[in-house]
Amino acid sequence: MSNSKKSPQADEKGITVKKTDDMPEWYGQVVMKSELADYSPVRGTMIIRPYGYAIWQKIQDYFNARLKELKVENAYFPMFIPESFFAKEAEHAEGFSPEVAWVTNKDEDSGERLALRPTSETIMYDSYAKWIRSHRDLPLRINQWCNIVRWEVKDVKLFLRSREFLWQEGHCVYTTEEECDKEALMMLDEYVRLCKDLLAIPVIPGKKSEKEKFAGAKWTSTIEAYMPDGKFLQSGTSHNLGQGFAKAFGITYKGEDEQNHLPWQSSWGFSTRLIGALIMQHGDDKGLVLPPSIAPIQIAIVPIVFKKDTAPIDEAHKVAKELESYEVKVDDREEYSAGWKFNQYEMKGVPLRIEIGPKDIEKGQVVIARRDTGEKYFVKRGDLKDKVEELLQDIQENLYSKAQSNIDENIVEPKDWNEFVKAAEARKVIIAPFCGKEDCEDIIKEETKGANSRCFPLEQQSKDLPEDCTCIQCGKPAIGYAYFGKCY
Ligand SMILES: [Zn+2]
Repeated sequence: MSNSKKSPQADEKGITVKKTDDMPEWYGQVVMKSELADYSPVRGTMIIRPYGYAIWQKIQDYFNARLKELKVENAYFPMFIPESFFAKEAEHAEGFSPEVAWVTNKDEDSGERLALRPTSETIMYDSYAKWIRSHRDLPLRINQWCNIVRWEVKDVKLFLRSREFLWQEGHCVYTTEEECDKEALMMLDEYVRLCKDLLAIPVIPGKKSEKEKFAGAKWTSTIEAYMPDGKFLQSGTSHNLGQGFAKAFGITYKGEDEQNHLPWQSSWGFSTRLIGALIMQHGDDKGLVLPPSIAPIQIAIVPIVFKKDTAPIDEAHKVAKELESYEVKVDDREEYSAGWKFNQYEMKGVPLRIEIGPKDIEKGQVVIARRDTGEKYFVKRGDLKDKVEELLQDIQENLYSKAQSNIDENIVEPKDWNEFVKAAEARKVIIAPFCGKEDCEDIIKEETKGANSRCFPLEQQSKDLPEDCTCIQCGKPAIGYAYFGKCY
């Protein structure tokens, strides 16, 4: 291949630090250099660039299809929330008060202060109180895709922490607690599936402790991903909100008995944080590594041109046509060398690269390189489609099982508190009996310098605890085994 062409910003290309040496620095470079996102002039906020937004749109497409199946409808509510709405549910108001950004203009009609939504329970439930009359109006299932503002964030970590981010929030209303419980867990299950099928990320589903649950909820469930640097990333939550919000906002329905009843409510959400998880989970020292299901470009075709022989370019377009059922990009730009393009698609995590040179045309073959392992294959043109399908599937599965091994290899069940503290320092996936009490959780966090309970795994909920099972920290009766660790 030719090296004569100048690569723009050649010195800026390539990740200059190893992922295992300095994960935060590595992460920042990958996000910027793969052109997923950028810093903005406004403190604490981020710019999602087209390549990053294409990933978010793929997540939206996948999830919108699931929502349709589950009879959840999309809607949109204002981003301005009257101050008095927060006051209606005390726990909720207290939980969010440090994070709320206020608009300096007041609402002209009510004279009230307006907040930028830190979450939309209050503004949505004010409407729900008007819309819900009878048991025939239930269940009500609404989802909203929107932006959220949490002002307390000072320093932005692209996709992981920012004052403004994008998310979806589902808000459902039911006649019975059983139905609410069931569907709140069903949505958590949808999140598990999304992470697996789309992002190739294994997550641990479970219930949050009292301290970690959502402000105003009866219970909160979560999916927890475990990153290669040994920190957990909460990747989505689903809550049974109980009847507190219904009471506060006056949501009632007339039952078949002609009496008024309080309904049960759930809410559930995930955010652009998922993209942060995706980057950290699979990326390597060359940049991003994307699972085929989420990759905006699944196959990059690079014709290798010698001495103005354009045959490889024509051939590249022919191959692209054959593979049109995939997301294919032919890069026939003349101003960049093939080597520069290879680096570029590696940086952007494109799962497969197809190289076509004059020799390959003679031999009736193409060269396929896979991003996850770097392996190269010489593939006869007749076998191309089958091979591409096989490789894409294999990459998806390989990335998932690699991430799963990272969890499996790091699970530790400490015998006592000393071992617990050591395991927390080593950033392991700790599983231990836990009392679930808030004061105990505070001590755990302090003595381990930051580790806390991630969740009581759902798979263990049904298991009976041995009678004398006591909390690893305080020695009081345990309510279950919980996962612990440091987190993002
Ligand atoms: Zn305890």
